[in-house]
Amino acid sequence: MGKSINQLFETRNECPGCSSDQFITKYQSPYDEDPLRKYLYNFYLPKGIVEFEYLEGASYILCECQNCSMVFQREIPNDSLMERLYEKWIDSGITHRNYKEQGTGFHYYYAQEIMRIISYFNKPAATLSLFDFGMGWGGWALMAKAFGCDAYGSEVSAERIENARANGIKVISWDEIPEHKFDFINTEQVLEHVPEPLKTLRHLKSGLKADGIIKISVPTANNIKKRLKKMDWEAPRGTKYSLNPVAPMEHINFFTRKALLTMAAEAGLKEAIIPMSLHYKYLSLWGGTKWFAKSVLYPIPRFILKTQNYLFFRNV
Ligand SMILES: [Zn+2]
Repeated sequence: MGKSINQLFETRNECPGCSSDQFITKYQSPYDEDPLRKYLYNFYLPKGIVEFEYLEGASYILCECQNCSMVFQREIPNDSLMERLYEKWIDSGITHRNYKEQGTGFHYYYAQEIMRIISYFNKPAATLSLFDFGMGWGGWALMAKAFGCDAYGSEVSAERIENARANGIKVISWDEIPEHKFDFINTEQVLEHVPEPLKTLRHLKSGLKADGIIKISVPTANNIKKRLKKMDWEAPRGTKYSLNPVAPMEHINFFTRKALLTMAAEAGLKEAIIPMSLHYKYLSLWGGTKWFAKSVLYPIPRFILKTQNYLFFRNV
């Protein structure tokens, strides 16, 4: 990667998903001037702080790869600024409190997903090793452990590592990943944050069993072209034109379905088809009609219409 004027940023010279150098710039604006300045201020203030002095001279540059259609930020924070962002700007006390205040639905979602995974392998849970890459506060790994699986996780944040260890999750480092042979590797809202997603995926694959599965779940925005045309920095998160899928500093990679499949192919992985019966196997009707619509109908966009960025991959 090249150097930007601001030494805390690096410039990407190729697509981080497929390594192509054929990409076009879709949008560009300095970080420390409006509308980015205002956006960052409003985004980070509820989470902690924002330090504009670290952003001077750097620009938010959105590019689109002409080969795989991935949308990526060209100037990204280097390792030390990333660390500052995730450790200081985002207050871990606030995120931990938010995590602890999650309702039962949050954990129930993990429980359903893990039951489906165990069912897919059709083996006793105690014989399966599951690894959550970028585990955050450990909710997923902890649920895997509750079902009797061998539960592993990784994190860069010291506080989250300590929290996981205290909860009996086996914490491993990046370098230790290839020493393992996991049945299942979970990446939930992680690959959109990493500087080199293709390299990361290849590394994860080195820790996967021959017949193992890697899940990639990243933000979805099927109308991304319209969002990039409008570039409405005021659009609230979760609304039609929200720019959260390409959020400055954090969502440095935005994957279309094509981009995910291209990156996986580059890493020697292909989509694994999960039988529909498994998706419905562990659903119950306890949650009422609203819950039913959300839970029972959700596999349709994911697996039939293929409009959600939630995919399982296996070795080619
Ligand atoms: Zn690409």
